[in-house]
Amino acid sequence: MEYTPGQDWYKRLHWQVFVAMVVGVLIGYSPAGGFFADNFGWLGTLFMRLLKMIIVPLVITSIIAGVASAGGGRVVGRMFGKTLTYYMVSSFLAALTGLILFNLFSPGRGYPITDTGTEPPDLAVPDSFKDLLLDIVPTNFLGSATAGDMLGIIFFCIVFGVAVTTLPEGTRTKVTGLVDALFRAMMALTRGIIKLLPIGVFALMVTLVSGTGLKAFGNLAQYAAALGTGLGIHFFITLPLLLYFWARVSPWKHAMNMREPLLVAFSTSSSAATLPVTLTTVRKKVGVSDRVSSFTLPMGATVNMDGTAVMECVGALFIAQALGADIGFMTQVVVVFTALLASIGAAAVPSAGLVVIFIILGAIGIGDNPEAMLIVGAMLSIDRPLDMARTAVNVYSDSCAAAVVGRWEGEEGIDAEIRT
Ligand code: ASP
Repeated sequence: MEYTPGQDWYKRLHWQVFVAMVVGVLIGYSPAGGFFADNFGWLGTLFMRLLKMIIVPLVITSIIAGVASAGGGRVVGRMFGKTLTYYMVSSFLAALTGLILFNLFSPGRGYPITDTGTEPPDLAVPDSFKDLLLDIVPTNFLGSATAGDMLGIIFFCIVFGVAVTTLPEGTRTKVTGLVDALFRAMMALTRGIIKLLPIGVFALMVTLVSGTGLKAFGNLAQYAAALGTGLGIHFFITLPLLLYFWARVSPWKHAMNMREPLLVAFSTSSSAATLPVTLTTVRKKVGVSDRVSSFTLPMGATVNMDGTAVMECVGALFIAQALGADIGFMTQVVVVFTALLASIGAAAVPSAGLVVIFIILGAIGIGDNPEAMLIVGAMLSIDRPLDMARTAVNVYSDSCAAAVVGRWEGEEGIDAEIRT
């Protein structure tokens, strides 16, 4: 599913998804659309259930493995604080950009709903910021895990991961070894389920188009435009500003030094698959020490996903707006906050961002809405180019983190010149 040079085009997942989408649209639009929707629509529901099935274990292992990969000791503790500061600020700015772009584009307005009798859902949001914070801390972690209360799970996993970093070496590596192995297993399962995307997309498109015709595509194009603009702003404006003010390096030189990993990220849609190239480039061309790069980059690949944060925010609000829900101030606060958490929980493999969008939908009370499932299916059908772009932003932000933390650790020579 990731890029393999020389592979026949029809064996590549994104082409399969594209063909499935076109065929699904054509059949859904044809007179046989209703028949196909009635008889094969359930395959789309099945696919969505598979995606939801993996969220809890995937998020648990992804966060603990990512945070605990930091290692242990005093020096690491200090670097941990700096790295986390960068990650939180950059991802928060990304989610905020998503929010602004959503409000400018309003991509969900006028979305055709399949069942015209459905009432717009009432979004479940806490009354105040204080309630939101209280909601995040679980009183019973296992209870949260079985109830699928993702915010509680994410909070627990972050603090658990931090606690692991404080353990003595022997005990720590036992925990990290186990969690890492489980995480790899979950990534393998995720990749397996994502291979079924063409079937899921076909069934969801047939159901969507036979119900609403082609009108939904206008909204999808607006969603893609809002997201693309948000990613562009983060890549070309926000991250260069952070680089300039925090690392005092030239954003131009950094971008030129990072060309190769950016291209790999773009073609593989996977921060994890790009990691070896990112590590080598950040050491050899950007000029960050092994100590800082081997600390910031592996953790960043799983935890720091700015492009995904933009997408979670625009995407979840798009769905809520498409359903006709009333999107008030508190909803927007909750979405920005949970988009940040969802981006931390997303695994670094293709389309993982759309898997964790259910975290936000759940947080605002529309996680089980059948119409929302259809919209997620439609978003999946056009996700590949958007995923390519947001993965490049994710990897770029990781490399900026390495440069910034390297500078904060007193390193000279970072992005001193363009190294080819
Ligand atoms: N594909 C992205 C990555 O690997 C994650 C996502 O789907 O947003 O960074």
